[in-house]
Amino acid sequence: MRIDVVTLFPEMFRGFLDGSLLGAAQKSGLLDIRLKNIRDFATGTHRQVDDRPYGGGPGMLLMPGPVVDCVESLCTESDPAETNDLSSSIAMLTPSGRPLTQQVVEELAERRRLILLCGRYEGFDQRICDTLKPDLISVGNYVLSGGEVAAMVIIDAVARLIPGVLGDSRSAVDDSFSGTERLIEGPQYTRPREYRGLRVPDVLLTGDHQRIADWRKAQATHATHGQTNNHTEK
Ligand code: SAM
Repeated sequence: MRIDVVTLFPEMFRGFLDGSLLGAAQKSGLLDIRLKNIRDFATGTHRQVDDRPYGGGPGMLLMPGPVVDCVESLCTESDPAETNDLSSSIAMLTPSGRPLTQQVVEELAERRRLILLCGRYEGFDQRICDTLKPDLISVGNYVLSGGEVAAMVIIDAVARLIPGVLGDSRSAVDDSFSGTERLIEGPQYTRPREYRGLRVPDVLLTGDHQRIADWRKAQATHATHGQTNNHTEK
């Protein structure tokens, strides 16, 4: 899968992309992540990418020209076979987008290409949306200073679903919000058997796979609004 990130701050991605899972996925060719600096598409001596909103108001907005030109340059870099469906690959990070859920992550992971548009300042000039018709995605009902962290959330969540990226592909299937039931995973334990008087539940030590599976299923809970499991003792 190829992911292009359109951003004013490509340097924010360095440590993140070199990290263990994503670094290995890129080295093995499962993921091809490229960073495109919007500033490279700015014109004029000041290489301006933002300006004040018409009608007044605080802050600055990203101007349409540099952002649209940047994305269109990615289209010309593509195989002709890919160019046709490229518009369906564009995702704009914005608080007004549809909420990112595991289901949306699964949908994004199906695509061969993903172009992530990171906003800054007060956001995007509306004509960027009108021209590119991106999929609008929000990572939650709060406001970040820029789309970069939101893009990292998407890259991380999507990468886990690409076959071969996780050491054990069962991990992604068993994870919270996944599978047909989309349950939240129950508590997990590792060594030691007892820690500060807290013992690992006996069932996990039986070696009886069916009983363990039944116990785990009973511990998993249905996702509800603002849910947490708050498992304490079992
Ligand atoms: N004025 C905008 C508003 O009220 O919706 C907020 C702009 S925010 C300071 C700057 C950029 O951060 C946005 O253009 C977007 O790319 C990104 N951003 C902020 N919060 C986000 C969220 N919850 N989900 C996705 N992107 C977000």
